[in-house]
Amino acid sequence: MAPLLVSHPSSQRGSQEKEDLAAPTSNGNTRVATFEASKLIYNYTASPRSVPDEDNACSGPDTICTDHMVTCTWNASKGWDFPELKEYGPLAIMPTASVLHYATECFEGLKVFRGFDGKLRLFRPDCNTQRMLVSTKRIALPAFDPKELEKLILTLVSVDGPKWLPRERQGSFLYIRPAIIGTQPQLGVQTSKQAMLFITASFNPRMDAPVGGMRLHTSPEDMVRAWVGGFGYAKVGANYGPSLLATQEARDRGFSQILWLYGREGYCTEAGASNFFIIWRTKASENGKLQLLTAPLDERLILDGVTRRSVIALVRERLTEELEIVERTYTIDEVIEAHNDGRLVEAFVSGTAVCTYNTSDHSTP
Ligand SMILES: *Cc1c(COP(=O)(O)O)cnc(C)c1O
Repeated sequence: MAPLLVSHPSSQRGSQEKEDLAAPTSNGNTRVATFEASKLIYNYTASPRSVPDEDNACSGPDTICTDHMVTCTWNASKGWDFPELKEYGPLAIMPTASVLHYATECFEGLKVFRGFDGKLRLFRPDCNTQRMLVSTKRIALPAFDPKELEKLILTLVSVDGPKWLPRERQGSFLYIRPAIIGTQPQLGVQTSKQAMLFITASFNPRMDAPVGGMRLHTSPEDMVRAWVGGFGYAKVGANYGPSLLATQEARDRGFSQILWLYGREGYCTEAGASNFFIIWRTKASENGKLQLLTAPLDERLILDGVTRRSVIALVRERLTEELEIVERTYTIDEVIEAHNDGRLVEAFVSGTAVCTYNTSDHSTP
């Protein structure tokens, strides 16, 4: 029997490799280490579709996407191929594809808005594309240059945006969903040597706050969303499927979402697929200060939301006098105590496409 060798990661710390943009492969060829937006191949659809009314756009069981999508494939020996803009439609992958068995998938979600001044605008796409790289690495899918992904998103938006976000629909938006999947058609728990990027743009329901506020149910005692050392900080598909059971049970009981608690202490982490904030007054013994409280990023339990960051940045910029920002672990018992003391001022969630409430089945992280 071969000896079992166990290596401990502490001996490898500090040896993080730098990513080269073109890395030589073992056969001496140069592997393309990022897709490049300037190489995009345009294959416009021959059958453009008509844009649905806003009222109907999200009422059916399928997400309605725009005319086009962008795709790009990768394999371990050649690297990234040229990206392609083409008609929106099904992808071809084998039943043995890595993603279908081992959840080698990550994604992003961001919006392009039709402004009240008539312009089209993306909200902080650089944050999403950088986070996508973090998620991609967590599941050992190929790296890329986030700036190139941003350019591909911009291109899709400039091709389909003008038609699918008509000028008169000011304030409306399309939801951009980039995703990368492992496509290697070989069973076996291993790094996928083939991958595919795709980017779609679609209609998504408006996420206005439900009348009377959102009702959250704490997570069941035998379930956690993420754990220290896990992958809660990455937007990988594997985080979401297993959260649906608790969410459905909560909805059946008239709640909108799960407030995910962690550990015996019941630390508040996130709500549904959005970040969770509390505004409270500290106890009189702590001067009764008004604080904006949210879970910290350092244990990598929660997702580093772009809207979370934006909320914090706005408060820091405009409200520091009256509202102290506190990023720390805090428990549900502290929240309940604050509520009982009448110190709880408000609670809210932030996210690009936070879930709707129980009257609707739409829910997009
Ligand atoms: C996407 C997501 C968020 C929100 O991130 P934004 O960048 O603000 O849209 C928060 N938590 C989880 C678990 C998510 O998947």
